[in-house]
Amino acid sequence: MTVVPNSIEARDIAYQLHPNVNLRKYEKEGGLVIESGDGIYVTDTSGKRYIEGMAGLWSVALGFGEKRLAEVAKAQMEKLPYYHTFSYKTHGPSIDLAELLIKIAPVPMSKVHFTSSGSEANDLAAKMVWYRSNALGNKDKKKIIGRIKGYHGVTIASASITGLPRNHESFDLPLDRMIHTSCPSYVHFGLEGESEADFTARILKDLEDLILKEGPETIAAFWGEPVMGAGGVLVPPAGYWEGVQKILKKYDILLVADEVICGFGRTGKMFACETFGIEPDVLVVSKQISSSYMPLSAIIVNDNFYQPIADESNRIGVFGHGFTASGHPVATAVGLENLKIIQERDLVGNAARLEEKFLGGLAKLAEHPLAHSSRGVGLLGALELKPWEGAAAGDAAAALSAACEQEGLIVRNVAEALCFCPPLIITAEQIDEMFAAVARALDKVAATRA
Ligand code: PMP
Repeated sequence: MTVVPNSIEARDIAYQLHPNVNLRKYEKEGGLVIESGDGIYVTDTSGKRYIEGMAGLWSVALGFGEKRLAEVAKAQMEKLPYYHTFSYKTHGPSIDLAELLIKIAPVPMSKVHFTSSGSEANDLAAKMVWYRSNALGNKDKKKIIGRIKGYHGVTIASASITGLPRNHESFDLPLDRMIHTSCPSYVHFGLEGESEADFTARILKDLEDLILKEGPETIAAFWGEPVMGAGGVLVPPAGYWEGVQKILKKYDILLVADEVICGFGRTGKMFACETFGIEPDVLVVSKQISSSYMPLSAIIVNDNFYQPIADESNRIGVFGHGFTASGHPVATAVGLENLKIIQERDLVGNAARLEEKFLGGLAKLAEHPLAHSSRGVGLLGALELKPWEGAAAGDAAAALSAACEQEGLIVRNVAEALCFCPPLIITAEQIDEMFAAVARALDKVAATRA
């Protein structure tokens, strides 16, 4: 793309430092400026319309034109645009949403603390894990186990728990307290001739070996997305979560479930903890909590987690933590309305009902000569491509992603996979429309390789 001088693209290059790009390449090529959205579609400044096959960043459950969220935000802005939850102050919207979250949580939970991003929430959860260990007199029980290809954010603690090299390299991360165990993706890490059950047993043994090597008395918590998202939609094999939880119980290690992508219906249940039988001590949520119309995230903790923290704050005199925007009234009012709409329209049920069609469509695409396989759960899926001989890793998926964009579909390429995470409001017909665009893109790219 040639960037026209003084265009909006040129001003973007001049003034913004973008995340998750090669900045030198961006200076030359610029970006795609999205101007408006409605339903599952967004439109760029040239008027071209796209299906948003990723719901933005795995987040816009209600699509891009939900008027009720705009109305609630306006009403809250006019009534009380800002207040905080610091010290002894509080307000209705944060209380209402906290109450709802406790009511719908997949396991009995005790308290909610609001934050503004998934990274912040994971960062705070890590700090609270340490605070709690100190409260219990376990001064050496501080290590946190993340997983290779896991993603938990980009702040110092959350990036350290993340298991992706690009989030560590040159940032002097991870912190020494964060260690990583094997990734439960059979497609990527299964050995030649190894059955899925043998793979699962091996991955679980890796976890137990790591705990024993480090010393169980030094390990405070295990962090995991029920289904890894940014690592490439990696669905764990049967028995994995059951096995992990057995090991964690045996060594008295807390479980933090990061449902930043999976939460609020993505896997066909309100929480993926229900889909996979996970019983976390701490649940981290964001994204679909407000359909990302406002920045909002939360950590939801059980009583076993909360009580020592309350005791420690009593000993010190204060729980010495708090963000200016914690429980922001506009964000929590929008979050509450968003969850009400998800419930009223049974969008969790929509994801469950459309799962077969969605996964069936992906499986059909996987029959294409450029494709290797497909996977997914609910309305979260990936199409794995065959790597191209002689090309750099990820080139095939990058080319496909670009071709999809030409065909009017925004998807995300991660390593050799194309990831799909459409708004939960998507219909059966729109799934056909989305996959028809992928099929055209596959054929076009195949033609250039013939
Ligand atoms: N956890 C998971 C599972 C995520 O997918 C993400 C974001 N993609 C985060 C945490 C970080 O959230 P944020 O970008 O809001 O900091």
